[in-house]
Amino acid sequence: MTPLQALQKYFGYSNFRHSQEAIIQHVLSKQDVMVLMPTGGGKSLCYQLPAVLLNGLTIVISPLIALMKDQVDSLNLSGIPAAFLNSSQDPDEQKDIAIRLKNNQLRLLYVAPERLFGKDDRLMTFLKTLEVVQIAIDEAHCISQWGHDFRPEYLMLAGLKNEFPGVPVIALTATADKLTQKDILDKLNLHKPAVFISSFNRENITYRVNPKNNSFNQLINFLGQRKEESGIIYCLSRKSTELLADNLKDEGFAAEAYHAGLTNDKKAKNQEAFLRDDVKIIVATIAFGMGINKSNVRYVVHMDLPKNIEGYYQETGRAGRDGLPSDALLLYSPGDAIKLRKFATVENNAEQSAIMLKKLDDMVGYCQLHACRRQYLMQYFDEAFPDTCGSCDYCLSEFVKFDGTLIAQKALSAVTRLKERFGVTYIVDFLRGSRSEKIWPEHKELKTYGAGADISKADWQRYLRELIAMGYLRVTDDAYASLKLTAKSELALKGLQKVELISSQTTDEKEIAPLDFEADLLNALRKKRQEIAVMENLPPDIILSDPSLLE
Ligand code: ADP
Ligand code: MG
Ligand code: ZN
Repeated sequence: MTPLQALQKYFGYSNFRHSQEAIIQHVLSKQDVMVLMPTGGGKSLCYQLPAVLLNGLTIVISPLIALMKDQVDSLNLSGIPAAFLNSSQDPDEQKDIAIRLKNNQLRLLYVAPERLFGKDDRLMTFLKTLEVVQIAIDEAHCISQWGHDFRPEYLMLAGLKNEFPGVPVIALTATADKLTQKDILDKLNLHKPAVFISSFNRENITYRVNPKNNSFNQLINFLGQRKEESGIIYCLSRKSTELLADNLKDEGFAAEAYHAGLTNDKKAKNQEAFLRDDVKIIVATIAFGMGINKSNVRYVVHMDLPKNIEGYYQETGRAGRDGLPSDALLLYSPGDAIKLRKFATVENNAEQSAIMLKKLDDMVGYCQLHACRRQYLMQYFDEAFPDTCGSCDYCLSEFVKFDGTLIAQKALSAVTRLKERFGVTYIVDFLRGSRSEKIWPEHKELKTYGAGADISKADWQRYLRELIAMGYLRVTDDAYASLKLTAKSELALKGLQKVELISSQTTDEKEIAPLDFEADLLNALRKKRQEIAVMENLPPDIILSDPSLLE
């Protein structure tokens, strides 16, 4: 049987994707291979198909029990004998698998690395007596300190080449990070591996970032056109996933929450319901996703700003695994960026803080972009992408612009008049002439007071955000988040530069939540964070990197 015939017969697909065929040929000729392919690219097939063609056993190293079970179930459904060994099984089950292995009745065996290299070496000794023809290391980034889910047991996999000399090893990962890729190659001890790097571009995903204002209404608008479709909605905090899921249910959507604080039963139940399409929408923290293989997720929404591009790209990558057109929508507010900046400061670790802040800045840069989003993403992952993409909000010209020089001048003068001491909310009130009783008496005399009364509060907030995004204003890092002029401000104030603003994208003019980040709230969060760290006995950097643990 040729690889193509096996593809059609066992997997029911007519063609190979990406470099699947070349990868499979390499394994069949007993060479080591490293495969870098985006999530949903089709990595499993690269070792499953050789496993069907080769006469013997393929050992698959996989980090998650849930992942193993899904894969084994679907292989068995396709008529390929496969099994997994893990701690969830009772001795009888394990014995049964051992017998099938001995009789050469299994093509694939899934196992976690700690099982293979644990204190008890009987499994390893036993496997060495079998006809092993291939070893696959899935989610290989787990071997790297730089990978986002480092597993110390993965380090022992370096020994596999010695235990099974001459058996080809295929390592697979979806990580796009260069540092991690190099680390995987260094640590796995592969013999002259052929490295296959697929493009990380996900052509079928359309990327959009909208300014966040009344996010629930924005979400309902977005979902209105997608009533029958499945999607994942990411929120920063556990509490907001539950609140949002409830609100969506009230609006008639089949939605459930998912976060690390739910019981295992509840998590499994919600996940299953989502996989079976009984629940259309999962509202989740970033705890949801790894190992979820649902091919018809049509959209991923981020209600809050992700901490870095890697996470964002992996989360949005869960949409459209079937290759059909899918959407990624992020609702961006600069207030989120300010909030995350606080969390990105790791106490007593200046180096790590700097890396986290840099990554956050890159994420903010993506949101504030006035250019092709895909190009920015590909550049971030060091992949050449010379043209604009034609399928992001920028390329689709969803930004309608107008000459906003006068508006910009009003805003910048207000900031000047108030001596650069106030944040967005206060400046907007000042511009609109509202808050007249509360405003300090001297402000009433100021020239710009009330100069922008004809523009709604929501629009002013949006314009100020754009001016920040374009560098005409900046926000201080402290808890006051005051607006400051920049070198560019003068050009606009003097009329030397035309300022283009984006027209309203929503018709909803309801009030926006205040942007100014309050010192009290911040301190409360800090305190809470420390409490959690003590309670769960976690190192502080884990807490810091997962603000969802806060609520
Ligand atoms: P990855 O591990 O790279 O994230 P998977 O191996 O889980 O991706 O595959 C993602 C989806 O693509 C699965 O539903 C799989 O069946 C499907 N798939 C894989 N190869 C092909 C192919 N050649 N043609 C069509 N679908 C494929
Ligand atoms: Mg996979
Ligand atoms: Zn584009």
